Amino acid sequence: MSGTRGLSILGSTGSIGCNTLDVVSRCPEISVFALSAHTNVELLAKQCAQFNPRFAVVTNPSFHDRFKALLKEVGSDTVLLDTVNPLEEIASHGSIDTVMAAIVGAAGLPSGLAAAIAGKRLLLANKESLIMSGQLFTNAARDHGAEIIPIDSEHNAIFQCLAETRDVDSGITNTQFVKKIILTASGGPFLSATQDELETVTPDQACAHPKWSMGRKISVDSATLMNKGLELIEACFLFDLPSSAVEVLVHPQSIVHSMVYYQDGSVLAQMANPDMRVPIAYGLAFPKRMDSGAEALDLTSQEPLQFQHPDLQRFPCLALGRAAMEAGGTGPTLLNAANEVAVQAFLQEKVQFLDIPRIIDGVLSKIPCEAASSLAIIREADMLARIAAKELI
Ligand code: NAD
Ligand code: MG
Repeated sequence: MSGTRGLSILGSTGSIGCNTLDVVSRCPEISVFALSAHTNVELLAKQCAQFNPRFAVVTNPSFHDRFKALLKEVGSDTVLLDTVNPLEEIASHGSIDTVMAAIVGAAGLPSGLAAAIAGKRLLLANKESLIMSGQLFTNAARDHGAEIIPIDSEHNAIFQCLAETRDVDSGITNTQFVKKIILTASGGPFLSATQDELETVTPDQACAHPKWSMGRKISVDSATLMNKGLELIEACFLFDLPSSAVEVLVHPQSIVHSMVYYQDGSVLAQMANPDMRVPIAYGLAFPKRMDSGAEALDLTSQEPLQFQHPDLQRFPCLALGRAAMEAGGTGPTLLNAANEVAVQAFLQEKVQFLDIPRIIDGVLSKIPCEAASSLAIIREADMLARIAAKELI
């Protein structure tokens, strides 16, 4: 990489945020311009002391006083940005060229969209924002010359395997010769659990992922396989593919992160140890490569790589994701909102694990899909789905 590049990290205290800072610490050409957190101001202050950003944003205002005191304690000059839309400001600021969107859930939409409209390189971890607003989001990026590089490991793998189909100047991908893509799924912690066992699993069991260490929301999504349902939708929007061209295979070793099947019979796969620093480093360095800190993959000491079809009976969330994409319009918006509410209720032990798909199915059968033609329609659908999900809980 040449020249110093400015980076804002939205959600720097989360699992993706911390991994991003770990990669950044290996690359002197990247300068951290701004960081954000919702409530974990202790960690945010430590990050400010280490990376010296110009601005920090704390999205929950009741933590502002504590954060200011902590900044003083650690001797940091970082300024707490306390404006009306601080996340949008740090996502679109003229001093940066790259934004890591690592907030969890629909809360990440306005800032992710602001980065797209400002024409930034958008390292997109926050899949919910894309799923919620689909075409609107990708159109905004295209119209404003923003470059979306997916950070979700599967989509990052596909992005890498599609390299030869991408026009160097416009960055537009031509999937004419792509037959299908395969998203791999680890299967989560309950891959071999029986239906009876699934009835009584706890939030801590659901969050104990065998291969990845992640935030609690996405960990539950991985356990229900809704994560793969969301990722199927994410892939359709990112790569402009119909849902019929996206398949899912369970691959418990999480070494092959996804694959592209081409018309001539060639299959390209991307492999790496399961470590989010690999896709993060790819996004930061693209089109070059850099050290991510991840351990090198040793295939000889690896257990055999297995692939199997997912069990849609025990994991109905994957089928719900596909159905929402096929319903089109606000279908994915409704699915995402209902899932966020259901997962939150499960984490708070208000509902059981198997209630999650029941709630989502209930919301999808209750609210009709509309054309997702404006942000106002999308916000309305999101709100209606949240209300309906809470009623079902
Ligand atoms: P996390 O829960 O560890 O971190 C979430 C971050 O968002 C934190 O910094 C938190 O302060 C911030 N945040 C939470 N609520 C907020 C709100 N209402 N407003 C503003 N900020 C808020 O989550 P994570 O595991 O790092 O995941 C982040 C995103 O990346 C998710 O969309 C997830 O699906 C996606 N993702 C994560 C992984 C992973 O390995 N963790 C892999 C692929 C995709
Ligand atoms: Mg993923």
